[in-house]
Amino acid sequence: MAKEVDAFDAIVIGSGISGGWAAKELCEKGLKTLVLERGRNVEHLKDYPTAMMDPWEFEHRGQMTEKFKEKNPIISKAAGFGEDTAHFFIEDEDHPYIQEKPFDWIRGYQVGGRSLTWGRACQRWSDNEFKAPARDGYGIEWPIGYEDIAPWYSHVEKFIGVCGNEDGIDAMPDGNFLPPFEFNCVEQHMQDKISEHYPDRHLVQGRWAQLTQPQDIHLKQGRGRCQSRNLCMRGCPFGGYFSSVSSTLPWAEKTGNLTIRPFSVAHSIIYDEQTGKASGVKVIDTNTKEELIFSTSLIFVNASALNSTLILLNSKSNRFPNGLGNDNGLLGRYVCFHLYRGWAGGRLEGFKDKYYYGRKPSEPILANYRNLYENNMDFVGGYTTFTGAYRTRKEKVNEGNRPQIGADFKKALTEAGDWHIYMYMQGETIPKKTNRVYLSKNKTDDWGIPLLVTDVDYDENDEKMINDFLKQSREMLEKIGCKDIYANDNEQAPGLDIHEMGGVRMGNDPETSLLNKWNQMHECKNVFVTDGACMASTGNQSPSILYMSLTARAADYAAELFKKGEL
Ligand SMILES: Cc1cc2nc3c(=O)[nH]c(=O)nc-3n(C[C@H](O)[C@H](O)[C@H](O)COP(=O)(O)OP(=O)(O)OC[C@H]3O[C@@H](n4cnc5c(N)ncnc54)[C@H](O)[C@@H]3O)c2cc1C
Repeated sequence: MAKEVDAFDAIVIGSGISGGWAAKELCEKGLKTLVLERGRNVEHLKDYPTAMMDPWEFEHRGQMTEKFKEKNPIISKAAGFGEDTAHFFIEDEDHPYIQEKPFDWIRGYQVGGRSLTWGRACQRWSDNEFKAPARDGYGIEWPIGYEDIAPWYSHVEKFIGVCGNEDGIDAMPDGNFLPPFEFNCVEQHMQDKISEHYPDRHLVQGRWAQLTQPQDIHLKQGRGRCQSRNLCMRGCPFGGYFSSVSSTLPWAEKTGNLTIRPFSVAHSIIYDEQTGKASGVKVIDTNTKEELIFSTSLIFVNASALNSTLILLNSKSNRFPNGLGNDNGLLGRYVCFHLYRGWAGGRLEGFKDKYYYGRKPSEPILANYRNLYENNMDFVGGYTTFTGAYRTRKEKVNEGNRPQIGADFKKALTEAGDWHIYMYMQGETIPKKTNRVYLSKNKTDDWGIPLLVTDVDYDENDEKMINDFLKQSREMLEKIGCKDIYANDNEQAPGLDIHEMGGVRMGNDPETSLLNKWNQMHECKNVFVTDGACMASTGNQSPSILYMSLTARAADYAAELFKKGEL
C-alpha cells in the first residue's frame, strides 16, 4: 500500500535539461516545488571525480575494458562514453528495455540527467522547421510558430550562456549570443570555398552553451569562463558549460522553494476522477522499494522523451485505462529521432605552417540548405551538417606496421601531421504513427514498472536524405581541395543520435495530439510535458534548447494558472 507523504505546489519528474528549467522557473515564481529524480544526487564541483585527471591517471587510459563493453553493448556505443565519463551513464543490464527493432536508448540516470554529458550545440529552430511538416505533408501543424518561442529562446540563451555569431541566415535564426569561438585556418578556408561555390550554403561558427565571456547572470550562478579544455562531459569545475547541476538547479535551490528527492522513480501519475485532474505522483524509493505518494496540483513531466511517455502509459485509471490523457490512442506514437548515419571527410594538403591553440569545445555548422522554402528534393525535411578541421599527429606514427614504441615513435608524436576535415549530418526524420513505444505486458523492472518496448525504424525518406548528404559532402570536400575523401553510411540504429522525440506530441487538435500549445495535456489540464516527448516533428537543429524554451514558456503559463487558482 502506497504511503501518502507530502504535498507540494508543483512536482517536476526528472532533473535533466528540461526538468532543471521547470524547477528554476516554478521556484522563482514562488511555487514550492519537488523534483523527483530516479538516480543519485550529483553536486556541482564535488561530484566530478575525473574533471582534473590527466590521461595517464586513468587505469585504462580512458578506454573501457572489453569485458565491460561485452556486458554493456548499448551504452558503450554512446558518443563521449569512456572511462572518464562512464559514471554519468547507466549500465545496460540495470535498466533493461525491449527492442522490437534495433534502437539504442542512451540514458544518464542521476541529478542533472544528460545535461552533464550533452554536446551543448544550441541552434534555434527556423520558422521553416515549424511550418514544413504541415506544408509538405509529413506531419501535423505545430500549434506554435517561431514568433511564439523566440522570446523564450532569448530568455534561456541569456541565462545558460550560448556563444555564436550573428549570421543573419534564414535556416538558423540568430540569438542572444556571447562571442563565438574562432575558426581555425582550415575552417576559414572551408568557409571561403563553400561560399565561393555555393552562395546559398552558410558555414558558420558553432552556437554552443559555453561561457566564452561570462555575464553578470552567469557569475551570479557561480560559473566562470570556458577554459577550452573540451573535457565538458566529465563535469566542468569552472562551470564553463551549461548543465542543470551547475546552473538551473542551484539557482532554484537559492529561492528556498526547491526540494530535490534523488533515488525516487516516478511510477505513475495519480488521476482523481472527481476533480478530473491529476492529484499526485506515485513514487518508488529505489533504496527501500517503498511506495510513496506525493500530492500536488501541478505536474511537469520531464523524465526525457521515452521515460515521460512510459510514465504516462503507466498512469492508468478507470477514466484513462490506456494511459493518462490517451483518449485517442496516440500516446507512445509518432516517436522520431535525428538521422546521424552520414559521415564524410578527407585530408587537406598545405597549411603546414599553421596550428591552433587550445581545444575548442564547439564545432562549425553548415546550416541546412535543403527544402528551406519549399519541398524541392525527392525527400522531405532538412539536415544540419556539423564539421571541423584538425591536425593529426605526424602520419609516420601510423605507417605500415611500425611499432608504437621507441624513440622515433615518441618524436613523431610531438610533430603535427596533415590537416583533416570531417562532416556529419543531423537530419530530420518523419514522425510516423508506426514508430512507437509501448509497455510490455509481462516484463517489469526492479521496481515493478513495465519495461518499455521500442518499435522504431528508418524509412525511405531517411535513405534518400542520407544519399543526398553523402553526395553533397563529397562534392564540397572536393571543392575545398581534399584528398582521400570518404563518405559513408554508418548504418547505426535509431536512438544512438540521443535525440529521441515524440510519444506525447503537441498539436491543436485533441483527436491527433496529446498536448495543447502550452504543453498542457488536452485531457488533464494540470499535467504538462515539456521534454522531447512533446515534439510534433524533429526539425534539424539540436533539440535541447527548444525543450528548455518550451519548458520556461509552459512554466510561466502554468504558474499564472496556479496563482489564479485555476489548476
Ligand atoms: C553524448 C551526448 C551528446 C548530446 N549532444 C547534444 C547537443 O549537442 N545538443 C542538444 O541539443 N542535445 C544533445 N544531447 C541530447 C540532450 O542531452 C537531451 O536532449 C537532453 O538531456 C534531454 O533533456 P531531458 O530533460 O528531456 O532529459 P535528461 O536530460 O535525460 O533528463 C531526464 C532525467 O529524468 C530522470 N528520470 C527518468 N525517468 C524517471 C522516472 N521515472 N522518475 C524520476 N526520474 C526519472 C533521469 O534520471 C534524468 O535525470 C546529447 C546527449 C548526449 C548523451
